[in-house]
Amino acid sequence: MSYRHILRYLICPTHHPEDRVEELAKFCQAARVDEVMILFFAEELTNGHPTIEEMKPWVELMKKIKSRLAQVGVDLSVNPWTTTFHVARGRRLKPGQDFTLMVGETGAVARISACPLCENWRKYLCELFAHVAAEVKPVAIWVEDDWRLHNHEPEMKFGGCFCDLHLKRFAGMVKRQSVTRQEVLDAILAPGRPHPWRAQWLELWRQTMIEPALELR
Ligand SMILES: [Zn+2]
Repeated sequence: MSYRHILRYLICPTHHPEDRVEELAKFCQAARVDEVMILFFAEELTNGHPTIEEMKPWVELMKKIKSRLAQVGVDLSVNPWTTTFHVARGRRLKPGQDFTLMVGETGAVARISACPLCENWRKYLCELFAHVAAEVKPVAIWVEDDWRLHNHEPEMKFGGCFCDLHLKRFAGMVKRQSVTRQEVLDAILAPGRPHPWRAQWLELWRQTMIEPALELR
């Protein structure tokens, strides 16, 4: 059986990157790594949805890592760490990030997690991914696990999305002028034989996650 050994790794542009790149190249040879997935702004280093300007030192570092790894026969892929954004933890949208935010089943609005139906967010993400693809030319751009509608801000409970964009599209799907969040919840969570809206709501979830993914391609 063949397999591809991919290492998830972070090198910060301001923390002795030259030393870290050398260590990485040597480790990849010793451990027979095929590909390194370098993360941008991961974990505590994230400051919200990154701008292309903020990405510049990271992109320059990616190019150097790619060149060094190529010398030892290892591919470079990248993972921008955030798409919708997992949870704010004090971070906020930046000027120009006019995104529709997710709304949870409780009606709580996310502080930074974008609704995947938001056109402004989709445009932003496509531009960001296109910039990274054109500059770094990685073998792949990975999408992190915040590509989902559940498990964002705790006060949203399970998750969303019940924003106006979602409720409007859902109303069209079930041939109504409008629907409220509570009407949708009552129908899709009703016990017994599944209410017909449940399948429609799951279809809307499917569209929500697939449409922006197709645009990224
Ligand atoms: Zn939404």
